[in-house]
Amino acid sequence: MASEEFTTHSTEETIARGREIAARLKPPALILLSGDLGSGKTTLTKGIASGLGAAREEEVTSPTFTLVHKYDGAARVYHVDLYRIADLRDLETLGLEDVFSEQAIVIVEWPEKLALRTDWPVIRIHLAHLSEDERRISVETQQGTLATIP
Ligand code: ADP
Ligand code: MG
Repeated sequence: MASEEFTTHSTEETIARGREIAARLKPPALILLSGDLGSGKTTLTKGIASGLGAAREEEVTSPTFTLVHKYDGAARVYHVDLYRIADLRDLETLGLEDVFSEQAIVIVEWPEKLALRTDWPVIRIHLAHLSEDERRISVETQQGTLATIP
């Protein structure tokens, strides 16, 4: 296990950190984003998805009601929000089982709602409110999953 922790002081800084994470990612990977409502999970996803060239920052919005958004550009990113998931049947409707057969990055908000099974490398990121504009962000990976910044 490798872990990193940092604090951001604005929305823009969290997006920039997401871009940095994207630069170190090699698909396929599963990214699990935990943390309270408003802790910045969707904001960080804007950085990751835009950093990968999958979508523009402003195209990345919360999939709260649709449960999943697919961004298809230079890379393919599935952005899943399980906050409103009622039961496993919802998931079958989404066809989420199929996403793990592709060379993609899958980003999941509220991952604790569901046991996701995959043999992909998993990156766990926890976000916590420190103050109105400050967030503590902890990243945990299996060794070698995220390339180190040279
Ligand atoms: P979540 O997906 O975890 O519910 P969002 O990313 O949708 O959270 O919302 C985070 C909110 O907090 C946004 O309105 C964002 O502008 C604001 N915010 C303020 N400071 C930060 C920060 N340092 N990092 C991320 N978001 C921040
Ligand atoms: Mg969100």
